[in-house]
Amino acid sequence: MKTKKLGAEALQQQQGGIVVLSFPRLADPKVLKHAVSTRLGGVSQGTYRSLNLSAKVQDDLVRVKENWTLLSRAAGMDLETPVYVDQVHGDRVIKLDAANRSPSGGSLGEGDAIITNEKGVPIMLLVADCLPVFFYDPTHQAVGLAHAGWKGTVGHVAAKALLAMGEAYGTRPEEVRVALGPCIGLCCYEVGVEVYREFAEVFPWAGEVFQSSSPSHWKLDLAEANARQLMEIGLKEGNLIRSDLCTVRHHDLFYSHRAEAAGEKKTGRFGAFIMLNS
Ligand SMILES: [Zn+2]
Repeated sequence: MKTKKLGAEALQQQQGGIVVLSFPRLADPKVLKHAVSTRLGGVSQGTYRSLNLSAKVQDDLVRVKENWTLLSRAAGMDLETPVYVDQVHGDRVIKLDAANRSPSGGSLGEGDAIITNEKGVPIMLLVADCLPVFFYDPTHQAVGLAHAGWKGTVGHVAAKALLAMGEAYGTRPEEVRVALGPCIGLCCYEVGVEVYREFAEVFPWAGEVFQSSSPSHWKLDLAEANARQLMEIGLKEGNLIRSDLCTVRHHDLFYSHRAEAAGEKKTGRFGAFIMLNS
């Protein structure tokens, strides 16, 4: 296995052709495994090149399945049967527990965040520009993932995931560690004025996460908006890990809806995974 640093916080690991990222400050790998997949090392072709993990973007399903097998082997997690949610850009948090856990994994229904203290079960999100937020509570041994595009951010999906961990496991925001994965960066995320208005209605600090790029357009710092939302409820800056990797700029490494899927064009999805070790 070859490793090197990527950006300020990510460790890039290469096994065969597969490249995955992790955040060494999030947790000791003896306690939990986590990863962000990239697009490298898979078998998908054309615009899906090459490690597309989504079966919902009209890629060849035989290739998608092979990608899962390859990734599973390289990431050292059994990812053939992950647990996930059907992401809808909403704010619903779903708890994985003994009642809804299935040996074959699968969907827990429509939602945009998963929390659990089950051991040995990988949970995942699929993204292509939206922000994947990782949560780890070392005191109560619980984890979570939230999927935050601009709509989910306005809906406080990341804060709701953290508060749900509090209710379910006793997680205190002051103790939780959070990693913000790769997402579309301030450099590339131009949005219309309607997005700015929705943020301004909800967040007193909205003006600080936007830059005006033309008279009717704004650029949004999605990662910073989620960082502030979480620090507002008690997350400590020192427990926050920012990958600072823009998916548009790094679309050689990640799938980017903005960079690659204009109009009828399609692109793939990369994944965010976390699992407490058994
Ligand atoms: Zn960018």
